[in-house]
Order: sequence, then structure tokens, then C-alpha cells
Amino acid sequence: MIKKNKPPTIRIIHLNEQEINKRSWLRLFFYDFETGIARQHTFRRVINLFLNELSRRIVKRTFVWGYPTAVNIESSAICNFKCSFCASGGSFGHRKGGILPYQNYCNIMDELAPYIYKVSLYNLGEPLLNKDIFRMITYAKMKKVLVCISTNGQLMGADTCRQLIESGCDHIIVSIDAATKEIHNELRPGGDFNVVIDNIRTLVKMRNDFRNQRPKITAQMVVMRKNEHQIEEFKKLGENLGVDVCCFSSFWAQDLGDSEEEKKTFELIPAHGQFTGYRKREAKVPGTCPWAWNRSIIGWDGNIIPCCFDYNATIKLGNVKKESFKSVWNGQKYRMLRRSIKTGKNQATVCRRCPIPCG
Ligand code: SF4
Ligand code: SF4
Repeated sequence: MIKKNKPPTIRIIHLNEQEINKRSWLRLFFYDFETGIARQHTFRRVINLFLNELSRRIVKRTFVWGYPTAVNIESSAICNFKCSFCASGGSFGHRKGGILPYQNYCNIMDELAPYIYKVSLYNLGEPLLNKDIFRMITYAKMKKVLVCISTNGQLMGADTCRQLIESGCDHIIVSIDAATKEIHNELRPGGDFNVVIDNIRTLVKMRNDFRNQRPKITAQMVVMRKNEHQIEEFKKLGENLGVDVCCFSSFWAQDLGDSEEEKKTFELIPAHGQFTGYRKREAKVPGTCPWAWNRSIIGWDGNIIPCCFDYNATIKLGNVKKESFKSVWNGQKYRMLRRSIKTGKNQATVCRRCPIPCG
């Protein structure tokens, strides 16, 4: 008898904040929102979480009590793919790529691990191109921090799958963006759909053979004009692969001028309103946002940027190679950014276009 795979959970992101607000506080306190994995509480983390949430939700201060409760650390900002809409491998954007050295990573983790529940080892770029990625995962696990990576899946051969499982990775997001070879290979030049699919099957099988609950595996589609008709097919593909979650993410484009690349990127914005992350407007509704108050991104070059929407790193808040993260977190630049979001005045372009609702 053929064993039927459990249907994957369907998630839609960029509506995260609204989804989170629907969940009970108790559940969010005990479990990671994306994976359902139990959070590793310590006295210091609980106090930090309490102070951090108090600063954003109740007091709405620009000086945040406590530190972020999760961070993204950009292990790699180079890529083996050349997606046209990406500032890393593609032609869109102006960021210089590189690899985060292991020692710099350890320094960041030494400073932040006592406060954070989760580290996502990606921003732009392919994490598996960093030869130290497994050591980085293991280092975070030693510090009892939940670890997530996001990959294009191309380099995830059997040996890599084994190392990902053995290093203790909690969550792997594989961006596929299509249910068929033709659309995948068109949207993700440099990639081979069949290789990516085979690699996901290997990862799922190996994890199940090890009788491991982890890593949780998510198949992701960023919904664009060229793939939006494949949403139902993608859910079936996820079920067939045996992944835990199928995630549909809004496509987001920055409005930074009238360049040719940007015009081409805007053509990728889906017609389906639910997945259109782009908002052209003069100011975002005043309030607080979860990224500037609760999370942060540290780039491969040490630059601290507020969130993944700023993929050209236009808002540089400090650099961990020159100063401690803690001194940047409530430094003048972070506070000015928070003030602009809170008041709706002098907002950066990236914030004015931001799809995340303010709390
Ligand atoms: S696979 Fe990801 S990081 Fe690489 S070019 Fe495509 S979108 Fe960018
Ligand atoms: S773009 Fe600005 S408002 Fe939006 S999440 Fe980032 S920091 Fe917050």
C-alpha cells in the first residue's frame, strides 16, 4: 500500500503580523510562530522578551528596553542563481556580495545569543555557499538558539542534507517559486528544477529515516505574475514531496527610481491582490513595526540594516565590526528610524512602501 504524505500546512507570509495578532499570547510565548517548535526560554530571554514587547506595544518608545528577540545574520550574500528580481545573484540592486567570516559570526552570537530565541542565517544570497555554514548552525545550537536557513536547494546534495541534519538545523526553507521545470528555470536562471526537487526528496527521506522531527522543511513560492496561476499545483507538489509547510510569500519591489531593471521588476508584481506586497504611498500609517523594534539584520559585511525589505541596504544603522550591536540598537540612527516610523514624518522610501502593517 502506498503511504500517503500528510498534507503540508499552508502559510501566507507578509501578513504575518495580522496572523500573529490572531494567535493567543500564550501560544506565541511557548512556540516559534513559523515552525511550532518549543522556544528555549531562559530567565534573561524571558525578561528581554517582556521588555522588548513592552517598549513596542505599550510604551511605543524609540529607545527600546531589551534587545531583539530574533535576528537574521547574512551568512552569504553571493549566489549560484541569477534571479532577475534579486539584489544578490540578479541584476536588480546595487549591493556588493560576500561571505560572512566564521569568527565575526561567533562574535555576533556571543553578544546576542543570551537574548535571542532564533537566528535565521540568511538575508540575500545562498547560505550553502558559505563553507562554514554547518559550524555556524552548530554554534547557535550550542547556545540553545533555534536556527533557520533559506536556500535555493540546488547545492543540497545527499552529503549536504546529512550535514544539515547532523548540525542540528531546526528549519530549512527551500525557495522553489514554481510547480514546473519551465517556470522555475525561467524565474531562477542557473537553477535546475529537477535537481532541486530530487534534493528536497533526499532531505525529507533522510530526516524521516533518522526518525528526526527536525529540520522542519518548508517549500516556498514567492508569488509573481509568472507563477501565480500555479498556486494550487504548488500545494500538490508540496504534498507529494512530503514537506511540512507550503509557504506563499508576497512579492515585494522597491521604488528607488525609474531604472530599466526596476521597470522589469515591477512587471513581475502579481495581479492577485493578496500577494502584492508593493504599496506606492507617501507615508506609512504611523505606528511601530515588528522589525525596527523586535528584530534586526546583520549583513555579511557587518552592516546592521533594519529589515529584509531594505535589500539594497539603504539604511545602514551601524557596523558590528566597529562597534557592539548593543551600542547600535539604541544609537542615534536606530532611534531616528523608529521615530520616523512612529510619527510618519521623514520616513525612508523603503518604509513608506513597506507592506507590513504597523502595530
Ligand atoms: S536564489 Fe535567492 S539569493 Fe539567489 S539570486 Fe535567486 S533570489 Fe537571489
Ligand atoms: S521597511 Fe521600515 S517600516 Fe517596514 S519593516 Fe522595515 S523598518 Fe519596519
